[in-house]
Parts: sequence; C-alpha cells; structure tokens
Amino acid sequence: MNIHEYQAKALLRSYGVPVSDGRAVLRAEEAKAAASEMAGPLWVVKAQIHAGGRGKGKFKEAEAGEKGGVRLAKSVTEAAEMAQQMLGRTLVTHQTGPAGKQVNRIYIEDGSDISRELYLALLVDRQTSRVSFVVSTEGGMDIEEVAAHTPEKIVSFSVDPATGIQPYHGRKVAFALGLEGKQVKQCVDLIGKIYKAFVEKDAEMIEINPLIVTTDGDLKALDAKVGFDNNALYRQPDILALRDETEEDPKELAASKFDLNYIALDGEIGCMVNGAGLAMATMDIIKLFGAEPANFLDVGGGATKEKVTEAFKIITSDPNVKGILVNIFGGIMRCDIIAEGIIAAVKEVGLQVPLVVRLEGTNVDLGKKIIADSGLNVIAADDLSDAAKKIVAAVKG
Ligand code: GDP
Ligand code: MG
Repeated sequence: MNIHEYQAKALLRSYGVPVSDGRAVLRAEEAKAAASEMAGPLWVVKAQIHAGGRGKGKFKEAEAGEKGGVRLAKSVTEAAEMAQQMLGRTLVTHQTGPAGKQVNRIYIEDGSDISRELYLALLVDRQTSRVSFVVSTEGGMDIEEVAAHTPEKIVSFSVDPATGIQPYHGRKVAFALGLEGKQVKQCVDLIGKIYKAFVEKDAEMIEINPLIVTTDGDLKALDAKVGFDNNALYRQPDILALRDETEEDPKELAASKFDLNYIALDGEIGCMVNGAGLAMATMDIIKLFGAEPANFLDVGGGATKEKVTEAFKIITSDPNVKGILVNIFGGIMRCDIIAEGIIAAVKEVGLQVPLVVRLEGTNVDLGKKIIADSGLNVIAADDLSDAAKKIVAAVKG
C-alpha cells in the first residue's frame, strides 16, 4: 500500500526526520489560509497523487508553458491560485501511465533554498533478504535513469538484521554523498531514524528524492515516497488508516476486499487460476502463444463459490478483456466449486467474451459435468498448452 507525500512526511517527522512545514488541503478555498500559516517568502504547491515525477509531469489540457504538479510560489495569493489550478485536474507523469491521475489533494509547503539534491532510498532487497540502502549524489532525477547511464554514481549496501543499523552505516552514506562537517552527524542521525521508521512500520520502500542540503548546510527530506507491505497491514492500523482508496485500481480494491490475490495488467486475456506459481505459468504461456494477460489472479486454495464469483466479476469488469482463461489444478481447491462459481457469476453478469476452461485434479469429472450441464458456451481444454492456444485463437479470431 502506498501513501501520499504529505502523509509520508508526517510519518517521517514523527520519527524526527527533518522535513519542511506544510499543510494538506482538499479544497481550493482552504489553500489561502493554509499558505498563510507559513512565513514564506517561498511556497511549494504540490499535487498529491500516488506517483512520482510530478514536477516534470503535465496536466491534461494544459495551457502552453503551464507548469507541472510541483510549483514554486512567491506569495500566499500565488500559492492559492496554483492550488486552485491543479485541484480536480488530471496529472500525467511517467509513473501514472497515459491515463494520468486526478489530483484531489494539494500539499502546500514552506519552500526551501536548495544547495544540493541527493538521492536516498531504503527497500527490501529480495536477493539478500535484507533492508538495503540505495544512495546517489544524483538527486532529483529518476534513479532508473542514473542506473542506466551512470551506475557508478549509485552506492548500495544492506543492513544485517542481527546487528541492526549502526553509526558506520550513516557514515558510509555521508561519504557516498560527499557530505561534510555537521552534515555527517546529521546524516548518521537521519539514517538511523529512517531505518527505524522502515522496520517499525513494515515499509516496503522509503524513497527520499531529493534529500537536500539546504543553503544553510542542513539535510532535509524534500520529497518522500513510502510504500508498505500489504501482508503486514493487519498489525499497522495507523498506517491502514492512511489508505486512499481513490488512488487504487478499482479492480484491485474489489479483489482485496474478497482476499483475492489480483494484479491488473494491460493485456486482453483475463486469467483465473489457483496457486501463484500456476498463475505465473499461465501468464507465461499466454505470452508464448502470442497474446498478453489482462491480470494475475490467484484465487487461493480454500476459495468459496462466492469468492470465485467475485473473481469472475472483477475479470469481466475490465473492458480490455477479450477472452477468459480459467486454469484450475484442483488440490485443496475443488473443481466443482470453481465450476459452480463460474456459472453463478455468468448468471449474474453474463458472458460477452470467449471462455476457455481447463480443469484438472480433485472432483474434475464433477466440475466438467456441472459446466457441460449448464449449457454455457464454454470451450473445454485438455491441458495448459491446449487451453492457452484455444483462448489466444478465440481472441485473435
Ligand atoms: P516529484 O517531481 O514528484 O519527484 O516531486 P519533488 O517533491 O521531488 O519535487 C520536484 C522538484 O521540485 C525537486 O527535485 C526540486 O528541484 C523542486 N522543489 C521541490 N520542493 C522545493 C523547494 O522547497 N524549494 C525549491 N527551490 N525547489 C523545490
Ligand atoms: Mg521527487
């Protein structure tokens, strides 16, 4: 789960990480009062969406020369005007995709004078199974771009969970970032605090881009992108309370309410599979035969008829879906339950696209019989590759 920049900064602030003073507003009328609470002479007006690259982003229907989603204002009035201009509009950045995201909140911040922009991130490195730091002197830019063109400017190391964060980690970061004097001590302090926040809140990623050195020579987190491990949210009620459902894919949101492991993708073939490994293999084989999966979906082992029905509804609600492939290897999950779920769902929402079903395993004969007796227009398949070929052929016509 991701949160907004202003929420991330409030969290970091509560751990003692230096951030600017700021106010979040939902309505244009609140902007002036919010900006007035800061002394100026510089205000930063920032669109709050769950995507980076806002500064370089573009609003839909932007006027020629119009600025992106991060703007500098020289007065309270100007800040309020900028907030009004951005609210309700759609911002497109390289992370939102072409559809962009609607801006429903604005963060107005006390502007900082920047001497240097640096990059700092913490994430879970799956290779080492540890929390890793990624730092670079090239702040304010996309780290992917830095990695592609000047990888030598990225320093990365992981923290041993047994000993935890140590002052030498902070000094390592300070050295990599070319910090000096009081900044080294500030860096050691900041690294310890960010690491503590990361571990205590079950974060998946904390990206500070840029981490700045102000003209006064102090370190400050100027941007913050924070994501959390969904599997740990049950023990993080204060984090869960920050959830902004309007930022989430409605299909993924519906799936999460029914405890389905669903990820929306861009392809045309909807997949309903049990088991994450089989779901991955199904996506691979769809690609092998020349089409693209519209989603990842693992209905899980103990799915009920209701859950299967809901999963089917989520798949069919995606307008990109031109065909559906159901691939079930019944172990704990019984084929007859899947068959009943599919039939119930089709009764409710209809079936506008070709449906290929491959069933194998527990109660397979019963499952096949239920589908055959239902009179539904289902294309039966014998094995995974047969199923993939059939659905791709049906979709590609
Ligand atoms: P992003 O574009 O979504 O990553 O948003 P950021 O919060 O990183 O802001 C983009 C850029 O705006 C930063 O890299 C800075 O160059 C600039 N910026 C943001 N806040 C301030 C500020 O307080 N003062 C100044 N001078 N520039 C800022
Ligand atoms: Mg940024």
